[in-house]
Amino acid sequence: MNSPETKLRSIPRSVVEDIVRQVTLEHLGRQRGLAAPTLTVHASARHMHICREHMDVLFGPGSELTVDRPLFQPGNFAAKETVTLIGPRSRIISNLRILGPMRKESQIELAFTDAISLGFDNLPIRLSGNIEDTPGAVVMGPKGVVELRRGVIRAAIHVHMSPSEAAYFGVKQGDLMKLRVGGAAGTTFTSVHVRIDANSRLNVHMDTDEANACGLHLAKDIELLK
Ligand SMILES: [Zn+2]
Repeated sequence: MNSPETKLRSIPRSVVEDIVRQVTLEHLGRQRGLAAPTLTVHASARHMHICREHMDVLFGPGSELTVDRPLFQPGNFAAKETVTLIGPRSRIISNLRILGPMRKESQIELAFTDAISLGFDNLPIRLSGNIEDTPGAVVMGPKGVVELRRGVIRAAIHVHMSPSEAAYFGVKQGDLMKLRVGGAAGTTFTSVHVRIDANSRLNVHMDTDEANACGLHLAKDIELLK
């Protein structure tokens, strides 16, 4: 049987450090005006997340994704593999990039203009992974074709953060924040979904339409607000 001391000693150092960091940020950070965590904002171009079963069909049994370049969030990557997407009126987007690692269920994330050009009239805006009652599409790979029954969405604008970063901002999982982007016109996104994960780094994800609308590539003055 474990004594209480053993249990205490068995807490991983990283967890202790995280708790200390969180407490420090909560009690000292904002009151003393410490520098906010560095905010990065990225535009996600249209892409596909793929499950094992569809990988087998599209790229051959047992095939694996190969890393083209790592993404900002640890462990995520843009794969070399691409597919062709066929929409409801037989319109096509070719070279649709797959993002790894593989997931439990396939999902395709499009910007509004992608959806229009493919013939989707009312593509729902969803958080990644929440794909009930969403339309499907046909996906073509080098080794086969898959008909997705569901999973085509516009991704809701969201911010990834670690628990300590969430403590800094005073937000919890599922909260909505505001993202103010300065510039000639100036834009504020009022419903930025908070997604907290121990492995995440502070990072806003918007789609390419949203990035173009707010002039993200030129923006210098960006602020994430509760
Ligand atoms: Zn994201």
